[in-house]
Amino acid sequence: MEARCQCGSVVFETPIPRPLALYICHCHDCRRQSSSAFGTSAIFPRFALPDNKNISCYSRPTSSGHVLYCYFCKVCGTRLLHATPGKNVVSVKGGCLDGLDWKKAIHIWTKSAMVPIPEGSECHSEEAANTDYTGYGSSQEELDQPDLLRGSGGDEATDAANICKIPI
Ligand SMILES: [Zn+2]
Ligand SMILES: [Zn+2]
Repeated sequence: MEARCQCGSVVFETPIPRPLALYICHCHDCRRQSSSAFGTSAIFPRFALPDNKNISCYSRPTSSGHVLYCYFCKVCGTRLLHATPGKNVVSVKGGCLDGLDWKKAIHIWTKSAMVPIPEGSECHSEEAANTDYTGYGSSQEELDQPDLLRGSGGDEATDAANICKIPI
């Protein structure tokens, strides 16, 4: 899939044509992060962002003791991707992607939702239920740091350096 920021300074391709999972999170953190009613996370196998001087990164320690890297376009400010070293999946912010099937999105933290949840959607009052490949937790922070993808063949040790090169 093609991802693009609002101003078009940053464009990149996802490594596979569909996300492994798509989440809409209605928690307070996601509302704040997105400056909107909810946050979106399209989960993909880890890949390296292009070397683009317009990509910047905000990093912060997380409660679980990791560092979350939040990549954004420094021209227009669009949040693009969240990644954590050592994880073999990343969270692309859904609004950047063309062609996502939003009907398949899983709604989480619906108990704090500001908007109606579409009928027939998979939804969870708090955190997402575990699936085959996630250890998704109860917050955006954990959602952005999913556990290792089972059976992906990813090599944590050798892949760890790839995503966190910050092209500034
Ligand atoms: Zn931009
Ligand atoms: Zn959230």
